[in-house]
Amino acid sequence: MAGKPKKNTTPNQGNSKNNIIYAIVVIVLCAVALFAGRQEQQQQEQTNSLQIFDGEIPQNDNFTISDAEFQVHMIDVGQGDSILVMADGQAMLIDAAESKASSAIISYLQAQNVTELEYAVATHLHADHIGGYPKVMGAVKPKNVIESICPESILPTTQTYEKYLKAIEESGAKYQALKAGDTFTLGNASITVLAPISEHASSLNNTSLVLRVQYDDVVCIFTGDMELPEEKTLVASSVEMPENFLKADFLKAGHHGSDTSSGADFLAKVQPEYVGISCGVDNKYGHPAQSTLEHLKAYTDEVHITAEEGDIVFLYDADTRQKKIVTSGKGE
Ligand SMILES: [Zn+2]
Repeated sequence: MAGKPKKNTTPNQGNSKNNIIYAIVVIVLCAVALFAGRQEQQQQEQTNSLQIFDGEIPQNDNFTISDAEFQVHMIDVGQGDSILVMADGQAMLIDAAESKASSAIISYLQAQNVTELEYAVATHLHADHIGGYPKVMGAVKPKNVIESICPESILPTTQTYEKYLKAIEESGAKYQALKAGDTFTLGNASITVLAPISEHASSLNNTSLVLRVQYDDVVCIFTGDMELPEEKTLVASSVEMPENFLKADFLKAGHHGSDTSSGADFLAKVQPEYVGISCGVDNKYGHPAQSTLEHLKAYTDEVHITAEEGDIVFLYDADTRQKKIVTSGKGE
């Protein structure tokens, strides 16, 4: 077809040297383009695999106590409570059980290399929570002693209480009585006092200082010996709190697993993933109550009892965001 002349798209036939140079340039450009494309693909693959890793935390639980930035140790003290909370190397002791358990607590603290207590907490003034403090404070100095505000009408007049007061004085610790809503920190953990809310509790158990301890998004609730009336008050007041504020990964069940505590309404708010109960072997109170165990087991299979498993340790490894319970077992 005659018409418009064809656009000459071929290189000058007469210059073969130029042709060779042209071919080499084309080959080099193609090679560069191919290499760049491959690199981009590799980067994309890497990005993809990183994105996948971000969402999928490996589920091995090989981390050890020394890996765990946040630790809760329910020390096996027989009938009573003594719980060591460690956050980024700082230590808080919640209760010190009975006097006869003091040497076991001191040994435990020493084994964990705890040489100073940032906080010594007395949830309430019964002997199975403060009895060990005189000797414990003598061996491992507390910087701060924390209690709840106890109505004068029910302040104990026991020798145990007198000795406890004297030990605080001799320790030189700063003493504070806290109330619901107060906050403080331990390492990177933030701690909120949840209860007591009632100012006129008629029993010491219901003056228990209840602590919510949060590290990253891991929440633990320590209840002392809080019983049903104060649990109800706490649940009612939770409408004023941020959403799911009472929901907890780890719950220290109230009052040694007694049926006076761990009521349905409270557990429905807490929905614990792990539970620790501190009580003595064959204790005369029948703790923990079978009914309480059943209520707790409706939420989790991870219900651990010091009387059966010895020391119960809840660990959280911030690097891998894994948590688990390890137990010492009962020695001879
Ligand atoms: Zn108790």
